[in-house]
Amino acid sequence: MASHIVGYPRMGPKRELKFALESFWDGKSSAEDLKKVAADLRSSIWKQMADAGIKYIPSNTFSYYDQVLDATATLGAVPPRYGWTGGEIGFDTYFSMARGNASVPAMEMTKWFDTNYHFIVPELGPEVKFSYASHKAVEEYKEAKALGVETVPVLIGPVSYLLLSKPAKGVDKNFVLLSLLNKILPIYKEVVSDLKAAGASWIQFDEPTLVMDLDSDKLKAFSDAYSELESTLSGLNVLVETYFADIPDEAYKTLTALKGVTAYGFDLVRGTKTFGLIKGGFPKGKFLFAGVVDGRNIWANDLATSVNILEELAGIVGKDNLVVSTSCSLLHTAVDLVNETKLDNEIKSWLAFAAQKLVEVNALAKALAGNKDAQLFAANAEAHASRKSSPRVTNEAVQKAAAALKGSDHRRATNVSTRLDAQQKKLNLPILPTTTIGSFPQTVELRRVRREYKANKISEDEYVKAIKEEINKVVKLQEELDIDVLVHGEPERNDMVEYFGEQLSGFAFTVNGWVQSYGSRCVKPPIIYGDVSRPKPMTVFWSTTAQSMTSRPMKGMLTGPVTILNWSFVRVDQPRFETCYQIALAIKDEVEDLETAGINVIQIDEAALREGLPLRKSEQAFYLDWAVHSFRITNVGVQDTTQIHTHMCYSNFNDIIQSIIDMDADVITIENSRSDEKLLSVFREGVKYGAGIGPGVYDIHSPRIPSTEEIADRINKMLAVLEKNVLWVNPDCGLKTRKYTEVNPALKNMVAAAKLLRKEL
Ligand code: GLN
Ligand code: ZN
Repeated sequence: MASHIVGYPRMGPKRELKFALESFWDGKSSAEDLKKVAADLRSSIWKQMADAGIKYIPSNTFSYYDQVLDATATLGAVPPRYGWTGGEIGFDTYFSMARGNASVPAMEMTKWFDTNYHFIVPELGPEVKFSYASHKAVEEYKEAKALGVETVPVLIGPVSYLLLSKPAKGVDKNFVLLSLLNKILPIYKEVVSDLKAAGASWIQFDEPTLVMDLDSDKLKAFSDAYSELESTLSGLNVLVETYFADIPDEAYKTLTALKGVTAYGFDLVRGTKTFGLIKGGFPKGKFLFAGVVDGRNIWANDLATSVNILEELAGIVGKDNLVVSTSCSLLHTAVDLVNETKLDNEIKSWLAFAAQKLVEVNALAKALAGNKDAQLFAANAEAHASRKSSPRVTNEAVQKAAAALKGSDHRRATNVSTRLDAQQKKLNLPILPTTTIGSFPQTVELRRVRREYKANKISEDEYVKAIKEEINKVVKLQEELDIDVLVHGEPERNDMVEYFGEQLSGFAFTVNGWVQSYGSRCVKPPIIYGDVSRPKPMTVFWSTTAQSMTSRPMKGMLTGPVTILNWSFVRVDQPRFETCYQIALAIKDEVEDLETAGINVIQIDEAALREGLPLRKSEQAFYLDWAVHSFRITNVGVQDTTQIHTHMCYSNFNDIIQSIIDMDADVITIENSRSDEKLLSVFREGVKYGAGIGPGVYDIHSPRIPSTEEIADRINKMLAVLEKNVLWVNPDCGLKTRKYTEVNPALKNMVAAAKLLRKEL
């Protein structure tokens, strides 16, 4: 019985890589310093896995930025704008592709399947000349070997690489990326030959796109690719790893018939159908890598249940051919529980971060080999029992209230046009009303105040005074700018989910539970371990304080239930929708308290609603149904005159437009500044729907200050498809990452553009 890890976090237990990268980018340390930190991290990870008893230890899962960008470097697929002239790709070219440089923007970044990890999208076309331009895979393999650790080098599979790419600028949008297969396979062969020559006996290709709904042409590309690689792969054991969902029937057939492949890896945590497929037939003599330890969450594995599943699988494929593994790379979970100094022992006993998951995988493999660590299994069973019975987990009133929601529907009593009329009587806004999305720049001073308050270094009075001053400054600024619907600027919040989680019960917080989001950016998701309730109002004090400073409408600012859910580590002992309904009820109470306190406009952000969309089409309708329902629950109780806004940080709506409409918000603000044309269809739907729509008129992700003409031009384009009385004018997201020197002129131009157009309408 062997054990395997699909991949491991690269950031380090205390984000060592993040700090080394940022210091290098700032010119504060040398390339050598950065390489040293990276090598130390790699070596400690390999040793940790070896010590834990893992047999198949991955290499080449480290990355200075992103594993897909690493594959792009390996293939020499550098877009011409970076001026790369050949040779081994160095930091200059690599980081320019990742982050842009003074003269050229970065390559596009997008979400890695349904995770919060973002990869750099390869830009390909018929003209790209591929060449073997980064020897990282073989170098890492040799590096581990020199440390005495035999590893399985991991490469992104050739078909997934192409399916995750996009046609480069200037290339026909309908260009068939898979037509490049014959051009990249020769490079893959060179890499494989190199690894073989260096002594590798196993190699892992990650082909996660196999879990998507692929048509037969795409599936055929897998068969073609591995047939072409077959002779090069001979003599090696080859694992094709899939993850993040059940594998569809057809894909399973394709996968298990691939030439040159000797092992298949499956995610047995997400979805339940793959297990059935394996039972239905598994190729004789091949290896099954069974991903039973969850790579995407932080809960301790239920070892006894896993053993049962593994026993059953062993009965099908034979013990010698079964390998215990993680459901996906551990990149998507936190690194090491050892560094959690603030979690109490009870909660800690329920958790396993990456380092603990290594132990779990190994313990399962040993147990299957008849070598069960009785003590470990007993402790694990006890932890699971304690979680089931803990009074901290269960709140019966909440359970009941949430259960009562399930069968029923929740909608505001009147339609959106009627409501908007009632609201307009109260708010009296001009056409093309201006607003912002919520946060204002978070200055160093502001962060210091929050930090010192948290650390009890300043008193509550001092803290409240400082935050009030900040709000006052932001309110006065917006009045000077002549913005119509104001915000308080969110100075009291460090993060739009953590701020609410900290005030809700059922949430726990880590000190080092970081997960890489992109490049050096990490997020620290809260842990939802129990039934969620709201002991007391969360935002009413700050919102009413802000409202008292102005006669203009002040937007109350909340994070929606779906976003809180999708940006947390969620309990797995009940369906996700139940947890979401519980959060929705808590937010509902907050919405109603805000209304009672005189706040007439309330924005409920659902920045992560789309992010939770299941990968498989067959599961999407169910998710959208409960997600949208959860949102509606939050504001079903308000009067017609209370205006509900929602904000979403993306413009990629085409496939979920009906759900967005079903959210039944009065005003929707969305990101738009990057891709106007994609949104046209959404706008048209919006016209029919009648709600207010605020497609961002400028990009807040860039320090660039848009001119009045430019913004006016953009608004005019929107007016060509949208009725003037539904259009709102706003930036495309919150301003917290910008500086006041950027925000002031940008908003000034935004208001000027709105005023200019009002005159013409
Ligand atoms: N209200 C939040 C802000 O302005 C929204 C952030 C987001 O959508 N990501 O910061
Ligand atoms: Zn946003």
